[in-house]
Amino acid sequence: MAELFYDDDADLSIIQSKKVAVIGYGSQGHAHALNLRDSGVDVRVGLRDGSPSAAKATDQGLPVKPVADAVAEADVVVVLAPDQVQRHLYRDEIAPNLRDGAALVFGHGFNIRFGYIQPAAGIDVVMIAPKGPGHLVRREYEAGRGVPVIVAVEQDASGGAWDLALSYAKAIGGLRAAGIKTTFTEETETDLFGEQAVLCGGTSQLVQYGFEVLTEAGYQPEVAYFEVLHELKLIVDLMIEGGIAKQRWSVSDTAEYGDYVSGPRVIDPHVKQNMKDVLSDIQSGAFAARFIADQDAGAPEFTALRAKGEAHPIEATGRELRKMFAWIKPTDADYTEGHAA
Ligand code: NDP
Ligand code: MG
Ligand code: MG
Repeated sequence: MAELFYDDDADLSIIQSKKVAVIGYGSQGHAHALNLRDSGVDVRVGLRDGSPSAAKATDQGLPVKPVADAVAEADVVVVLAPDQVQRHLYRDEIAPNLRDGAALVFGHGFNIRFGYIQPAAGIDVVMIAPKGPGHLVRREYEAGRGVPVIVAVEQDASGGAWDLALSYAKAIGGLRAAGIKTTFTEETETDLFGEQAVLCGGTSQLVQYGFEVLTEAGYQPEVAYFEVLHELKLIVDLMIEGGIAKQRWSVSDTAEYGDYVSGPRVIDPHVKQNMKDVLSDIQSGAFAARFIADQDAGAPEFTALRAKGEAHPIEATGRELRKMFAWIKPTDADYTEGHAA
């Protein structure tokens, strides 16, 4: 059984006694920085020269500094720039300015697990990874709740790394929900697998195929959109509340019977084998190497794949339909349809 931790298991005063530098002010960075600040922690944000994020952080009342300066004055450095830039940032700006005995905090284990960042022996290295998007991490905190976090220690130079990690997890609101103890290896491999095989990759492909099959058979795209995309949220909400069993309890007997007989025809044992192949590429570092090589070349593959995804007909259908949905209001001001800022 996994070890779970809650607010009572953590001492908030540990992180409150530290100077914290949050590097990056994107999805996770803004949420960590604001939640820490509102929990009474001394926070500064480190950003590169001319960063478009700087105005947001300043407007929200946080001091913004060049990365090197923020790192140099911090006891705890939180690395929340995108995974693909972290190793350059670490080599050029963080490592040369990191104080002896400082702690490094990550939001995902990618760079440590695959060896792109190798911190010196005297540094504590911990991870607090919220299991949800940054905007939800902030929204839940403001509502007095939290998003569950997973917590790991890679390197405990001070002897206090675990207590520091739990204190940090409490300050961002994660222990109001739950903290689960893990390792950098487990977090990295399961996170990549989950997003590739099921949450992002698997679901996106499933929805696109469903839409293609219906529209190619002559059904109206708007009707297809409702059946294969819009209703997904309602189904997933039931799963979150009560597992797959609650979803099956709530739908009609017709839908439940169709689930049993047709689900395994669509997602057949080949799919499970494909998932195992995806996991092997994650474990071997092959996925990481492909991602980083593409990024280092200016991301030609990533850019082409993103454009292809945005050109899928389901996106145009959805954009038009959502304009008529009075009941769906976008909640994230920095997202515009067809372009994530
Ligand atoms: P984002 O892409 O949202 O973060 C971008 C931020 O990093 C911006 O403030 C950007 O500033 C800054 N940045 C980009 N390049 C540099 C650079 N060279 N030097 C300094 N700052 C830079 O990242 P995420 O929040 O998505 O991811 C951060 C970490 O959190 C990753 O490790 C990720 O795996 C992890 N994570 C993310 C989740 C999520 O919800 N997105 C969920 C759980 C974990 P600028 O304005 O200058 O571009
Ligand atoms: Mg991830
Ligand atoms: Mg239906």
